[in-house]
Amino acid sequence: KSLPYFCRGEVVRGFGRGSKELGIPTANFPDSVVDNLPADISTGIYYGWACVGNGDVYKMVMSIGWNPYYKNTKKSMETHVIHKFKEDFYGEVLSVVLVGYIRPERSFNSLEALIAAINSDIEEAKMKLELPEHHKLKDDNFFTSTT
Ligand code: ADP
Ligand code: MG
Repeated sequence: KSLPYFCRGEVVRGFGRGSKELGIPTANFPDSVVDNLPADISTGIYYGWACVGNGDVYKMVMSIGWNPYYKNTKKSMETHVIHKFKEDFYGEVLSVVLVGYIRPERSFNSLEALIAAINSDIEEAKMKLELPEHHKLKDDNFFTSTT
């Protein structure tokens, strides 16, 4: 099993699908990071910890996959950091640890249903990450050795 899985990369522009307009911006990793994923990390929704540059470590949810709702043709890793940032952070290094799996990817009949699912993913992430064995990863050296 590949979890916890640590990785980092520069935040690149996504497809401008308006995640931010939904109130749920997702920071995209470049293909180089996506292509390095171990084979046993299946597509779906994950929870974990994330930090931007040398900043604080926050809870996150990440979607790995083909984004069926948008009929994507490309695999992607999109991280929503559970924190309100003052500014965008395109070009900065995002460090993440994938801690656990929430659910497989699926498509939704409406935007409302998609948003509701993401909000329930966020609530599950917040709760699971409070478990001691998950919370300790927040303090992992991985997040302090960003140069
Ligand atoms: P894109 O299609 O370029 O990914 P989004 O609407 O998904 O556009 O917005 C993602 C961008 O929003 C990120 O690259 C980042 O710079 C910024 N951002 C601001 N707050 C957050 C957050 N809490 N989580 C993720 N990205 C955020
Ligand atoms: Mg995005």
